[in-house]
Amino acid sequence: MTDFSMKLNEDQTTLRDWVHGFAADVMRPAAHEWDEREETPWPIIEEAAKLGIYSLDFLANAFADPTGLSMVLVLEELAWGDAGLCMSIMGSSLAVAGIMANGTPAQQMEWLPQCFGSPGDIKIAAFAVSEPDAGSDVSSLRTRAVYDEATDEWVLNGTKTWITNGGIANLHVVVASVDPSLGGRGQASFVIPEGTPGIRMGQKFQKMGIRASHTAEVVLEDCRIPGANLLGGKEKLDERLARAREGKRSSSQAAMATFEATRPGVGAQAVGIARAAYEYALDYAKERKQFGRAIIENQGIAFKLADMKTRLDAARLLVWRAAWMARAREPFTAGEGSMSKLFAGEAAVHITEEAIQILGGYGYVREYPVERWHRDAKIYTIFEGTSEIQRLVIARAISGVRIL
Ligand SMILES: Cc1cc2nc3c(=O)[nH]c(=O)nc-3n(C[C@H](O)[C@H](O)[C@H](O)COP(=O)(O)OP(=O)(O)OC[C@H]3O[C@@H](n4cnc5c(N)ncnc54)[C@H](O)[C@@H]3O)c2cc1C
Repeated sequence: MTDFSMKLNEDQTTLRDWVHGFAADVMRPAAHEWDEREETPWPIIEEAAKLGIYSLDFLANAFADPTGLSMVLVLEELAWGDAGLCMSIMGSSLAVAGIMANGTPAQQMEWLPQCFGSPGDIKIAAFAVSEPDAGSDVSSLRTRAVYDEATDEWVLNGTKTWITNGGIANLHVVVASVDPSLGGRGQASFVIPEGTPGIRMGQKFQKMGIRASHTAEVVLEDCRIPGANLLGGKEKLDERLARAREGKRSSSQAAMATFEATRPGVGAQAVGIARAAYEYALDYAKERKQFGRAIIENQGIAFKLADMKTRLDAARLLVWRAAWMARAREPFTAGEGSMSKLFAGEAAVHITEEAIQILGGYGYVREYPVERWHRDAKIYTIFEGTSEIQRLVIARAISGVRIL
């Protein structure tokens, strides 16, 4: 009798194959068009909603898998289909993670369904932390949330930047500073529902990759929300602030709690892009003939593919381990969540670049998907914590030293 197995169970393979069908039949054929259009692909999200892939139930079922693997299997397949479309479908789940990490059960019941809507009336959500002067350093947020006791409202002011679905989302989860003197420990998360005055989209960014995913600034100007929209509630916040003022350690920071939980999923998306490029390059290398033989018959090409596949599998194993640890509530004592995102992101950049090399000129033109995969891969070393920040997390975890 053995408890340990790396073999996926039947539920997991069924789920993976079903999502793969959507990725192959719906996402792949649409990927080039939406990359060129640089717009939110509403029909694709609608299609995902109709099939049940874009829904709270779907996410909840995937998260319920006690091994933690279902979610990362799904994300790998969707990103294999197309990373930009995958981010459009999964962008709302960042807000979901923010609500799950910080909201009370009643708040979760109220807000989570509003992140998705229903087929025919889909909604999208955004999670806004980053600011023009606070990217990696999320402790220095300038967006302020001030409590108005007379009306039991919070008043938010500030500018968020690089926000996925920013300004077009039906619901925004915004992390703001309640007491700037406390840095990261003086922050809280707020839900800004659809139709709230004082929130608007600023600049929409034109990007190198994942261009089907909308990224924009979010401007908050005297944006008033009910007191009940503070995730976790005022009592808990006041207790947390009091502890912080006394210099006691608190268990979590609003933004960091969300990012830690989502990192293996981000790594899984990078694995999906890398796999797409590796598979394409392998097929191509077997087909393409130069000097009277398939180019894969040259060690110079075959060894590249061997290295690509090795790196791809290593990345996936790190992702699976981190996903399992997160689900089993095993503490990331060596920054294992960061390791998975760091390695998978850098592997995706490397593997997609090698794929371009294997395709030669065909790798460099937009008629073939490989250059798009390379453009898409690069964001995975930047968002949800840059590679440097992941290394910082790992280095601090393994050493116990406050490395700067
Ligand atoms: C397409 C896209 C989508 C995004 N979606 C969201 C979203 O939905 N919500 C959200 O809140 N944010 C989002 N972001 C923001 C993203 O998380 C930030 O861009 C990222 O955290 C880096 O911040 P920054 O761009 O300000 O870079 P900076 O923090 O200014 O970093 C610049 C460089 O300095 C390095 N650096 C910084 N500090 C250190 C250090 N201590 N040691 C070593 N090196 C360091 C960084 O690694 C990087 O190489 C998104 C960004 C993009 C591009």
